Amino acid sequence: MTLFDKAKKYIPGGVNSPVRAFAAVGGHPIFAKYGKGHNIVDENNDAYIDFISSWGPMILGHGKDELIEKAKGYLEEGLTFGLPTKVEVEIAEFLSKAFDTDMVRMVNSGTEATMSAIRLARGFTNKSKIIKFEGCYHGHSDGLLVKSGSGSLTFNVPTSAGVPENVIKDTLICKYNDIESVKKTIKENKDDVAAIILEPIAGNMGVVPIDIDFVKALRKISDENGIILIFDEVITAFRLKFGSISTELGVKPDMFCFGKIVGGGMPVGGFAGRREIMEKLSPMGPVYQAGTLSGSPFIMKMGLDVLRILKENPDIYQRLEKYAQMLEEGFNDNLKATGVKACVTRYKSMMSLFFGDFDEIRSFDDVSKADLDNYSKYFNFMKNSKILMPPSQFEAIFMSDALDESVINYTIEENKKALEYIKE
Ligand code: PLP
Repeated sequence: MTLFDKAKKYIPGGVNSPVRAFAAVGGHPIFAKYGKGHNIVDENNDAYIDFISSWGPMILGHGKDELIEKAKGYLEEGLTFGLPTKVEVEIAEFLSKAFDTDMVRMVNSGTEATMSAIRLARGFTNKSKIIKFEGCYHGHSDGLLVKSGSGSLTFNVPTSAGVPENVIKDTLICKYNDIESVKKTIKENKDDVAAIILEPIAGNMGVVPIDIDFVKALRKISDENGIILIFDEVITAFRLKFGSISTELGVKPDMFCFGKIVGGGMPVGGFAGRREIMEKLSPMGPVYQAGTLSGSPFIMKMGLDVLRILKENPDIYQRLEKYAQMLEEGFNDNLKATGVKACVTRYKSMMSLFFGDFDEIRSFDDVSKADLDNYSKYFNFMKNSKILMPPSQFEAIFMSDALDESVINYTIEENKKALEYIKE
């Protein structure tokens, strides 16, 4: 019996999060045994170059010696107490400054972060509806598992069984990079919209960069209608630059959600915002929110160490940019040379390679036209070359600082061979 067969006997689908089953690309998942630097070594002792980076958190690569040594010391200090700790104050101060906002509440996952931020926005505004964008993912809380139905932008369909229709009736779906869809929705739901939530650079439909005019218009329409603008930066915070990508976009949201990198590889999430909003949270205000392991001192110490490394070493972001730029140029040259139809999208250290004949990629409608068969062929060719690309067309390639130029050059060479194989 293979490990995957055994896994399927005891775990639904053999995995604890669906994308790990490799269902979108066929074949068996890789069972990771350990990671070091840019490599993941699997249970067969094969080493793979890692471009998944645990979906973003492992920005420094795996098994960094200085972090392992520190973690051992933190273990001895105790894991969790059900009491406040000094490191929670330190990380809250650090993150408030990094996001240039007032207050922070820590939770255990990105799902909890967005769920709680939305509850808070509703509690603050005393309004019930929220706007989310097709193709953006904000975790798996009921009210956010929604796609737009055919025909009308505001007619909703749950993306999962078990989500009652009345739970999603207040989630309004608009199109990414399409301000007219937002204007129309707000007009139809005047005075009822509490929040607009979005990925400021979309990563969960593959990488789709945002139009600056669109995000500016979202800020304006939010201000005009008393709507809380929430940037879900669970992926983007500290990945694209130190802190929030909002400074680069020139638009400041009212609230930020974050996770992934902030936990240094441990489970974490959090949300931050202006004092007048955040003070509506329990125990100060009427919006209830809690967590037995929220702000766990062990995780806060691990996370703060990673954040401090990122703050003190801006050259890390320069290297990530260099690797991503090399990959983008290399992939584009290979596409030209082989004539395979595909499109590279990139924003700093996250990128996607969409197979298909595209004029532009700006929305979920665009990415939906991708050629999934070619992506599967591509993924499996790269996997055989011991390069781990995301096991779905609709996920991002994430760079880590543990990569180097020779690994990037090897990846570009294998990418060309993969494209030639697809062309055959
Ligand atoms: N928000 C975004 C933008 C994400 O990418 C994710 C997860 O990938 C989440 C929220 C949910 O985070 P978690 O998986 O930690 O619950």
